[in-house]
Amino acid sequence: MIQYSQEYIKEILKALDSRAFLENEYDIEFVESGNNWLNCSCPFPDHNDRSPSFGYNLESDYFNCFGCGETGNLINLVQKIESISFPAAIQKLSICAGISDQAEEYEMSLTVNKIRSTINDYLNRSFTSGLIGGLNKNTYLFALTDRIHKYQIKYPFLDDFFERVYLDVDDAYNINDTDKLNLIWNKIGDKVKEHAKRHMG
Ligand SMILES: [Zn+2]
Repeated sequence: MIQYSQEYIKEILKALDSRAFLENEYDIEFVESGNNWLNCSCPFPDHNDRSPSFGYNLESDYFNCFGCGETGNLINLVQKIESISFPAAIQKLSICAGISDQAEEYEMSLTVNKIRSTINDYLNRSFTSGLIGGLNKNTYLFALTDRIHKYQIKYPFLDDFFERVYLDVDDAYNINDTDKLNLIWNKIGDKVKEHAKRHMG
């Protein structure tokens, strides 16, 4: 089931004429009392109210009842009147607002935006981390050992050499020596070939 975000809920409330919705859906007769407040007798089934103790604010879409003390937003209001769940109330409101078919698309665009900002963080970091590819330290360590390991598979007879390389990486990593880590990254290919030649020659 879809998880509704605050952004989508805001979108519903923006698209919906909440006064018309409440009047038509629940036969509510509002009295305007200024400052975006509408009043009526409480619409909740368990509050038998004959005075207009219920207030609904059109600007904030919040309600409160002086009689029974209930308070909340439009979604809670629909929930309480109909005894339905939060997602069911959102679904109903999105249908009435005429944007129900956009729910998935909307959530998708939010996800894309989140991914985009993660990518931006990643790209910005490239200017600060000092490591090749702008990777953070742990990702870099992973990539570098992976790179070394590929050479190791190709040249299994250079075990002593690789052992020393790993120790160098370890030292440089522990003291945050980014220059040395970058040097290992750049030179590992040459060094391997050099040692292989010596080993075979
Ligand atoms: Zn009430």
